[in-house]
Amino acid sequence: MKNVEVSIVIPVYNEEQSLPALFGELWPVVEGLGRVTEVILVNDGSRDATLGMLYDFQQQHKEVRVIDLGANFGQHMALLAGFEYTRGSKIITLDADLQNPPAEIPRLLAEMDKGHDVVGTYRVGRQDPWFRKFASKWVNRITNKIAKLSIRDYGCMLRGYDRRIIDIINVSKESSTFIPALAQKFAVNPIEIPVAHREREFGVSKYGIFQLIRLNFDLMTNFSLVPLQAVTMAGMFFALLSGLLLAFMFVRRVVLGIGTWQRFIEHSFEAFGFMLTAITLISVGVLGEYVGRIYKEVSKRPRYSVRRVYETEDDE
Ligand code: UDP
Ligand code: MG
Repeated sequence: MKNVEVSIVIPVYNEEQSLPALFGELWPVVEGLGRVTEVILVNDGSRDATLGMLYDFQQQHKEVRVIDLGANFGQHMALLAGFEYTRGSKIITLDADLQNPPAEIPRLLAEMDKGHDVVGTYRVGRQDPWFRKFASKWVNRITNKIAKLSIRDYGCMLRGYDRRIIDIINVSKESSTFIPALAQKFAVNPIEIPVAHREREFGVSKYGIFQLIRLNFDLMTNFSLVPLQAVTMAGMFFALLSGLLLAFMFVRRVVLGIGTWQRFIEHSFEAFGFMLTAITLISVGVLGEYVGRIYKEVSKRPRYSVRRVYETEDDE
């Protein structure tokens, strides 16, 4: 395939139940685009029938390539792997579960035609459990504040990126990342549009509570040093406070010779001791996060490994 304009990248993990609907809904959209389009399906170490189904689909359409990863590396790594294979000048990411309808793709492309290099999206009428919507609201707010970004909905993965943005992402070799935030950092002329959202019809969400915590921790610590700095600041504040208290005690006992407040102060100190212990624990955790990152960075472990690429050879 020559002169690809649009590359649609879809990470797929154990989606055997969603795939027939995805193929059925995606293909008419691809054909209706009227643009040279390739579809890159990244199998993220699925353990069900996913790979075979992707392969069959690839055999039917020369525009489709299947990148089969050697293990489950997570949605964002799977997308990064897919990006390395894209040839289009416009790149669209989409989830395999049809929570965002492929029918929205032409609207994203229309925005890109106007010159927007990143087309972000936010879900209107989001159909997810209430605790996920509630958590997202706060994650969106806090992340925007500390990472100095303004993204309405970090979790919506139906997005459009210009080739230039993807090229930069491809050379950013960080070992964990959050793609919408990374892209926004490099965007010159981004825009956000509302997109429809529906309930996951087939299969279940691939994110359990621990994966969600992990993912959001990645998001916050990858794009900001504020969590680390906040803890350090709090530590300094409490150190200063206990210093003042010590000085106060000293003045009372030695200079003024009053002893009645001593028990009160002793008790206060116990309280501060507890507080400092808590802060120390938090600091160790946050520091550990960054140290762990440095460890991952220096160990130069590949971010993902491709087993095989299924594609139809060019005739030319
Ligand atoms: N996914 C993936 N690897 C993972 C988890 C998810 O490639 O480890 C894919 C999944 O197949 C889907 C997309 O990422 O295409 C979003 O996952 P999901 O719908 O489970 O997330 P949710 O909508 O619940 O946030
Ligand atoms: Mg989903």
